[in-house]
Amino acid sequence: MIEEYDFNLDHVTSVIKEKRAGVVGLQFPDGFRREAIRISGEIERRAGVRCVISANSCFGACDVDTRLLESADIMFQFGHARIPNITVENAHFIEVTSLTRVLPVIGQATRVISDRVGLVSTAQFVHTLAGVRQYLAEHGITGVIHDGDGRIARPGLVLGCNFSAAAPDCDEYLYIGTGDFHALGVALATKKTVWIADPVTEEVRMPDTDRMLRKRCAAIERSLDAQSFGVIVSTKIGQCRKNLAFDLCAMAEEHGLDAHILMMDIVTPDALLSFDLDAFVSTACPRIAIDGSAIFPAPVLTPVEFEVVVGERRWADLVFDEIS
Ligand code: SF4
Repeated sequence: MIEEYDFNLDHVTSVIKEKRAGVVGLQFPDGFRREAIRISGEIERRAGVRCVISANSCFGACDVDTRLLESADIMFQFGHARIPNITVENAHFIEVTSLTRVLPVIGQATRVISDRVGLVSTAQFVHTLAGVRQYLAEHGITGVIHDGDGRIARPGLVLGCNFSAAAPDCDEYLYIGTGDFHALGVALATKKTVWIADPVTEEVRMPDTDRMLRKRCAAIERSLDAQSFGVIVSTKIGQCRKNLAFDLCAMAEEHGLDAHILMMDIVTPDALLSFDLDAFVSTACPRIAIDGSAIFPAPVLTPVEFEVVVGERRWADLVFDEIS
């Protein structure tokens, strides 16, 4: 099935006119970049402005192209919900919503889920949660939608770094969306059953948490003999946890280990290659360690995994790295 999206251009145009902007910055995540030229042309035509498209990567609302903003009156980042506890003046976040119907796959999900589930989703489908809750109620199932913490803009919204919108009083969750990563995060954060209802593939499945845990255990085991660590700090506005990095360095030193803070914008294998270090700890986006670990020249741990390596945390207490 081809997925179609609403880029909310009526809202974008009205904000531009209200702010009387002349130069408009546009930021797109990789998945929507192929639409950038069409969207830019459409905005220029509708609002009579000049658009400047960021050609840099854009991983989330944590990743605002502030240099682009210096060259524009106003900026729109498409595809991500805003992060309420981060404010960047003149930056607006446009939640590109999927037009794919969700109820067919929810109908399938009703055959396997329990009679009370927490409902979670990503920015592309979070607008459907109220309708899903109503549909489930008509089928005798209670759907619980929970507010997240200060990093979460909408009830039920989960980010790859924050699962606080998974209702704490549920024993099972239904994730509505594509891919496995967010569902894996909910499963590891809550240690409860999670079902994925994917409206695009129309599949209902469970994330493979064992496979991910095996990979993370392998990364921890490969780091047990490490004597020197690079503690990565991101300069991205919503990923920068430098105080945590300082704490991790102090912890390493207390355990007789060598630790150095490495600050960078994008964390890539090439950026780490020249540093003669045994392992890395990423305080940046948790997905770097968890999703991308295979591509790095040495093990990349999350902060909680580093605590396991140095013996400050038990294996049994391993949790998903979250940013609040
Ligand atoms: S830190 Fe990572 S998971 Fe969290 S919003 Fe940014 S890109 Fe997404």
